[in-house]
Amino acid sequence: MNVNIRLETSRFCYVYSKYKIIEIGNKEYILPDENATKKTISLTEYLNDILIDTLNIGKKVFYKETIEQNELLNFYSKYGSFGFMIDLAINKYFALDSKVAIKDSFYLNNKENINFMDINEYLKFFYPTLNKREINSIIKKCINTAEDIKKEDYLTSMLNEYLIYSIDYAEPVELVLNYARSLYKDLASTIENKPSTMKLPFLSVNHLTHNFDDLYRNKSFGFTINYLKQAIDVNYSIQMGQDVRLLKLCNYCNKAFIAKNPKAEYDTYNCKNKANVYKSRAKSSKVIHTDTGLVVKLPSDELIKGLKKRGRV
Ligand SMILES: [Zn+2]
Repeated sequence: MNVNIRLETSRFCYVYSKYKIIEIGNKEYILPDENATKKTISLTEYLNDILIDTLNIGKKVFYKETIEQNELLNFYSKYGSFGFMIDLAINKYFALDSKVAIKDSFYLNNKENINFMDINEYLKFFYPTLNKREINSIIKKCINTAEDIKKEDYLTSMLNEYLIYSIDYAEPVELVLNYARSLYKDLASTIENKPSTMKLPFLSVNHLTHNFDDLYRNKSFGFTINYLKQAIDVNYSIQMGQDVRLLKLCNYCNKAFIAKNPKAEYDTYNCKNKANVYKSRAKSSKVIHTDTGLVVKLPSDELIKGLKKRGRV
């Protein structure tokens, strides 16, 4: 089945010029700097870069490598926040309800099942610097907007703007790393043909809007991306669903990359070179690749004698 799908960014996606990481109650949060300026971003323009950068943060978490704060801050000032507050809520217009049903709350508070959280408690989780009165005034603003606006498109954009594109909106670093790790783990296990050990609703696309407006004119229909996590999830699904999958992991450094050539095994020329050197060294030192791993052939007696003479053993 061939379908022409267009991906569009909503005109109301934003990124701030500067972000910071702060600690509140033993939890690290990433949020816009108070002096940062806000501008719109076309997420569809960077779809592949966004996916690869996220997967490669995930790769570092997966292999327990150090992640510098600057790496996360650079990611955020390039693409903005992920939008977890909207994405994890099953009821899309949770700001108008008293309770929020949370999708895959394991990532929020280590509970496996659907969880209901009080709206104030949920907002406090993502606005750790705001007090009760300030949080209440956000809720009021959302309710008033919903009463005024009759067209759903506008309502979604406006609520997103008040909620996830607010200068006070913060995302826990732990949540970001969990997400990136899950995405990388899913890719790695798919490539190795190992089924995922747990179901990951966290990785499914949520609240995606689509439009058929151009279906008869352009013979295609479009999905509208409203926040970063949607852009990642949609592109990940599209990449994984291709007949010839170009989203791969480098055979040398394990980083994710999108190959131009379906046979490519390495993300960079440098990695290809290093892998070749490694392979030829392995050959000369009699390391043999077998099904069960590596076997090292011991050097012959003459070689040991020769080394002893030269004082190397
Ligand atoms: Zn590599």
